[in-house]
Amino acid sequence: MVKEEKVALNVKNLNHAYGSRRALDGVSFEISAGRFTVLLGLNGAGKSTLFALVTRLYDAREGMIEVFGNDVSRAPGEALRRLGVVFQSRTVDLDLSIMQNLAYHAALHGISGHEGTRRAIELLEWFDLSDRRNEKVRNLSGGQVRRVEIARALLHRPRLLLLDEATVGLDIRSRADIIGHVRRLVREENIGVLWATHLIEEVTPQDSVVVLHQGRVLAKGAVSEVVSANGGGDMKTAFANLTGAGVPPVASGAAA
Ligand code: ADP
Ligand code: MG
Repeated sequence: MVKEEKVALNVKNLNHAYGSRRALDGVSFEISAGRFTVLLGLNGAGKSTLFALVTRLYDAREGMIEVFGNDVSRAPGEALRRLGVVFQSRTVDLDLSIMQNLAYHAALHGISGHEGTRRAIELLEWFDLSDRRNEKVRNLSGGQVRRVEIARALLHRPRLLLLDEATVGLDIRSRADIIGHVRRLVREENIGVLWATHLIEEVTPQDSVVVLHQGRVLAKGAVSEVVSANGGGDMKTAFANLTGAGVPPVASGAAA
């Protein structure tokens, strides 16, 4: 049971449709501070739509979203202040240096120049980017750009970090590096993380998971519980059993 004050994100009965296409259908879950929670779903499951609602890119007409007890519709300032986001699409300025990108973002959050620089230096240290800090973002590798975006999302010291497909398009080493950095934030800084991905291999047995499929939550909780409740073996088997993806489309012997 999650203690009330430790609930980083509380989503209740969220619905969203694009015209007649229903993208989220009664989505409810909680994530805790100090936990790494994976939002696991295939492409089209509704992960990015959920992010758009939590960050108020779209207005949630039905249901409720709270960040550390602050309703994003009624107290957006309080809620968004506690939230850091890394979107699926890249949003850095390629022609600015790493430091310039971070400085502008800090200014946007009302952080003074001196304090912004101090925090940027500290974060770049954490993300192993110190020696590149005056480099134009254009000259960085995909993995380094992602680390810049994560560092930037942390400048205003949020207690909850959302990342949407943060490792897409990266090689295995960069992926492991990024996920390692984010797990360390959870462990050492007690930040709550919601990590959206379609890659089952990014889930470890110690994580929590929310399985989203065709706009619905099919399972949620500790990975070990979700796995044992849905087929025993591992997350891959459990996911296949939950979504029906592991069931052959035509049972053997049945007429086509
Ligand atoms: P995911 O991020 O898990 O891949 P999305 O939230 O992007 O899923 O999409 C969920 C569903 O909503 C999909 O069926 C997708 O085609 C549809 N969708 C997403 N964005 C739009 C949009 N702007 N207009 C219409 N349909 C959309
Ligand atoms: Mg998406």
